[in-house]
Order: sequence, then structure tokens, then C-alpha cells
Amino acid sequence: MRVSNAAALILLALPLFAETKVFTNFTLIDGTGKPAAPGVSMIVVEGKIQAVGPAARIKAPAGAEIIDCSGKFVMPGIINSHGHVGATLDMEQGPKFYTKENVEKQLGVYASYGVTTVMSLGTDMDPVFEVRAEERATGRPKFARVYTAGRGFTLKGGNPPDQGMRYAVASPEEVAPIIEKLARQKVDMVKIWVDDNFGRGKKVPPEISSVIISEAKKRGLRTAVHIVDYQDARNVIDEGAYALAHSVRDREVDQALIDDIKKHNAWQIATLTRELSTYVFAESPAFLSDPFLTRSVSPVVLQTVKSEKYRSAMRSSRDFARNHELLTMAEKNLKRESEAGVKIAMGTDSGPPARFQGFFEHLEMELMVESGLTPMQVIVDSTRNGAEFLGAKDLGTLERGKWADLIVLDKNPLEDIKNTRTIQAVYIAGNKVN
Ligand SMILES: [Zn+2]
Repeated sequence: MRVSNAAALILLALPLFAETKVFTNFTLIDGTGKPAAPGVSMIVVEGKIQAVGPAARIKAPAGAEIIDCSGKFVMPGIINSHGHVGATLDMEQGPKFYTKENVEKQLGVYASYGVTTVMSLGTDMDPVFEVRAEERATGRPKFARVYTAGRGFTLKGGNPPDQGMRYAVASPEEVAPIIEKLARQKVDMVKIWVDDNFGRGKKVPPEISSVIISEAKKRGLRTAVHIVDYQDARNVIDEGAYALAHSVRDREVDQALIDDIKKHNAWQIATLTRELSTYVFAESPAFLSDPFLTRSVSPVVLQTVKSEKYRSAMRSSRDFARNHELLTMAEKNLKRESEAGVKIAMGTDSGPPARFQGFFEHLEMELMVESGLTPMQVIVDSTRNGAEFLGAKDLGTLERGKWADLIVLDKNPLEDIKNTRTIQAVYIAGNKVN
């Protein structure tokens, strides 16, 4: 009697018309790093994974929608741990383009590529908070989930210029009120740029970055830092930075830095495609004609980056030769850090002009494999690790209790990482993305 009462209570606790979907009979790459498992099915109720396991053991509840995934590969949605949304229109970037519509449109582009979560790192205006609030109200957005650092910090009169999208500070005293504002906005992270543009400008000095990081910490906020140089990486890690938002690019990393990063339990984001984008268009890369790219890029942008004018401007840039070397260095450092057990999250710095949202994340994964990481490592860095980096407990892997953010692929990405591009469908919280 007691048993049946308990059973009745459990039945009553279930929503009467819970939306239930069952994805059947696929090969699962769950994002944890576990080997791929063939013949798996998954029950998704109201957008969350209720059960996942061998197809024979997964019974579809009555009334469930069945999504036959026979012959397909299913992996978690990709998490881009360093992107930018809302500030770019074609080849221009600035706060005047920053609208809710533009943010949502770009999050839609990311989602269409299977990039279901994006950390927008430091160039966000107020509309981002409205988009984020609406997304989190339901947990089931129509486009990629956005995380934001709001406006990041640069040095007044230094590099990069604030462009109306960053806070330019001249002294440590100016920091606390800004951090207070960011905390009120509940930013997901704080961002600092420490970059003197190859010695041509001034960068945020340690006496300011240390205060930003510690003031952020006081309010429970983590700080990601844009660095280029080894010494700046050492400094900000010692100051308590949570992440290096780019690779060290002026020299090879060494054991001292690696030990430091690991001691502080900090993250590395490599942004290899950001380096590639500084020179590759001079060489007319084949990907500019790849339908997987061109379907999402405006004809104006394609025409511009393919034009002789744009290419020759890039070729004659005084940093052209150096930019090649920076990518090589970044790849070498990524491999060394990954092998040494530094936590890596995949990030691209996509979003600014000609840094193509969605496409670049797939290209980044390819470059990470070229750097010497295995496809499995790269997938974990792009899924589970991204979620851990963000502190998003219900994202990143396809396990019971998580949101069903997933990509259905025609081909196995563990055989060739480029197979992440064989997208058959993308789901966010169990809803199919257009
Ligand atoms: Zn960036």
C-alpha cells in the first residue's frame, strides 16, 4: 500500500503533458572524453536530458516525439569561450551597431553552426543584458546562450583604444566604481586588455591590472586577460587572473609559466583563428568559397575580403610576416600547455570584421588538431571544458540532468575533426535550431 502511494505521488509530480523527445540509435560522443558509444538513445524532457544509454534499455514514453538518428553522431553543442557579439556590421565595428537585434542575429548565426554557447569577452553594450535575461528566464533560447563580460578594461590613451566599448582607466583609483557597476550588471566575467601593439602603444600596467583582478575577486568575479607577451601572462596569473584569453605569442612558454597557471588553476584559451585572420586573406584561402562559410556571410563582406585592395593592404602590413610567426608560436604553446595538463577551453575571438562567427569555431578546432591535440581532446576543450570555464553546470556534456544542447552529425568527428562541419541538425535545450 505504501509503495503504491509513493508511486502515485511520483506520477503526480510529473508534469501532465511534459514535452518529451527521444533521439534514437546514434553514436554518442558525450563531451566527457569517454570513448564514442554506438547504439545510444536519449530521452529529453522539457529540454533536459532525462536518460541516455544503450538504445535497447531506453524505452520511449507514450506520446514522445521520436527523432531517428540512425547512422548519425551526436556531440554536445560547441562552447566558444572567447567571442564577441553585437558590435559588428559587415566590415565595421562600433557601439552604434550594438542593438538587441544584432546580438540576437549573431547568436543565431553561432547556433546555426552548432555553437550553442558563447562567452562574449569585453565589448558588450547594455542590450546584451536584456538578451541574456530573456534567455535565462526560460533556459531554452532560440539562439546561442550568451555569457558576457560587459565592457572590458583598457588603458586611457593606451592600446587598444576604448572605441566606446571598453572602459579606459588611467589609475587604480578609477577601477572600483567600474567593477561595482559590472557586478550590478551581473557580468559573467571581467575582461582586461594588456597589449602594447608590439611596443607601439601603452598597455594596462600591473598596478592597474592587479587592482582590477582583486576588486573583481572581492565581488566574486573572475577575470580573463588578453595578453600577447610571456611576461604579461606571468604577471596577470600571479595577480590572480582566471584565464589567459589568448596564447602567449612573443616566445615559447616554459615550465615556470605552466607551473604558475596550474598552481592558480587558471585557463588557457588559444584563439588560433584570431592569429590566422591577421594574414590569411592575403593568400585567398580556399575557405572563402566554402559553402559552409558563405551561407552565413554577407556578399559585401566576401567581396571585400576577396578584393585585391584588401589582400594587398594585408600583405603590405608591417606585421604581415610576424603574424604568421605568431600563429606558429601560439600552436606550439597550445600543444605544450595541453600536454602539461593546463586547462584549455576552445575560443576564437570571432565576431569582429572578417572573424567569422560559427565558421571560425570549426576552423579553430581544425587548427587545434593541427597543433597536435587529438580530436577527442579538442572536442572536450570545446564542450565540457567550455562549460567548466563558464561555471555552467548544466551545459557541456550529454549526461543526465544537463540541457540537451547538441549537434547531430553525419560523419564521425573523431576520425576527422572537420567532420564537425557535417551538421545535420542543432538542438538547444531540445529545440531544433533553424
Ligand atoms: Zn576578443
